[in-house]
Amino acid sequence: MKKLSVIFLGPPGVGKGTQSKIISGHFGIPHISTGDMLRAERAAGTPMGKQIQSILDRGDLVPDNLVVEIVKKRLAEPDCAQGYILDGFPRTVVQADVLEAFSPTALACNLTAEVPALVERISKRRSCPNCGQMIQSKSSGEERCPNCSEIMVQREDDREETVRNRLRVYAEQTAPLIDYYDRIDLLVSFDGMRDIDMITGEIIQDMERVRGR
Ligand code: AMP
Repeated sequence: MKKLSVIFLGPPGVGKGTQSKIISGHFGIPHISTGDMLRAERAAGTPMGKQIQSILDRGDLVPDNLVVEIVKKRLAEPDCAQGYILDGFPRTVVQADVLEAFSPTALACNLTAEVPALVERISKRRSCPNCGQMIQSKSSGEERCPNCSEIMVQREDDREETVRNRLRVYAEQTAPLIDYYDRIDLLVSFDGMRDIDMITGEIIQDMERVRGR
């Protein structure tokens, strides 16, 4: 059976995190989110966390060398031996080149959506500071986590100004990876605005096809 080394491409807010978590549970392989790892560094106040704080808040990209080091270390851990879901990495051609030399990708899942829908979706996104659960906000008042009842908060970089910058950064630096993975025949694309379960079902089918090769 082929190793399920899978990456998720797509703009912020398209559902990469949601799908990655479900798919990771389905196949029993780790979900590796570079955004989560970088936010954890910041929250822990490590030297790297301090260095990247303002970059995260602006919605710009953290320098390639820093992210690449974190990812290489994580992919070398034993739980990645059968495969992994990379969510939010690679985000530049440099990162993709390093990844493909270090641990070749078996499938690149590209989720798509139009910008206005993304802005709307992200500005309603709330996350749980305790367990990381995400929801779409339904009211302007206080909302509690469906898992652990903590008060839900808006991520600093989910505010509209920052969202627009993140979308710009995505278009300039990350969108070229769609062509990159298409050219090496690893790309599958899904309309990210449809029903979550429907998208999950299609991704699972593609991953089973790849695994059985
Ligand atoms: P995300 O949670 O994937 O939207 O990532 C949140 C933020 O973390 C991004 O806006 C970037 O500042 C940073 N980040 C995450 N992944 C990467 C990456 N592969 N390269 C550079 N910066 C990243």
